[in-house]
Amino acid sequence: MKMKRLSPPHKQSLFRQIEATTATEEIANSLIATGDARASRLSEMMLDPAYARMSFAQLCSRVGLSAGDVMRLYCQKQASIAMMRMAQQLPDIMENLALPALGQRGLCVKCAGKGTISGSTCTDCCGSGEFRTMGDIRALRLVFEITGVTHRSGRN
Ligand SMILES: [Zn+2]
Repeated sequence: MKMKRLSPPHKQSLFRQIEATTATEEIANSLIATGDARASRLSEMMLDPAYARMSFAQLCSRVGLSAGDVMRLYCQKQASIAMMRMAQQLPDIMENLALPALGQRGLCVKCAGKGTISGSTCTDCCGSGEFRTMGDIRALRLVFEITGVTHRSGRN
């Protein structure tokens, strides 16, 4: 085996910072399937007892990953997981967004749904016996924009 080559002090401290904030097992798991061959090799080595005596910094150095590379790959992986979790909530969020866009209808309160009061046409519902209210205009605009019914205006 080759002589151990120690990393410069500033690199070591950055590696220590990574290890202090995140469990090495979690780092190893996050490096799997990042699409980076060096990261895949590193995660294999971290889980391999044959490399148990080597420090995290030494393993990274062996595969050619800097502390900055590891941080970047870890953050990318976490961001992907975060996006997936956010996307899971998207149907509920969009449904909630659409609810205020729905209008309401019901019996006219003034004529109790009859359309007339003492033989005269009800002035509130014009004889229809029911009331209708339009959905919230901002919610309607958003729903129409998102679904492509209307195009975004005034933002070109
Ligand atoms: Zn009425």
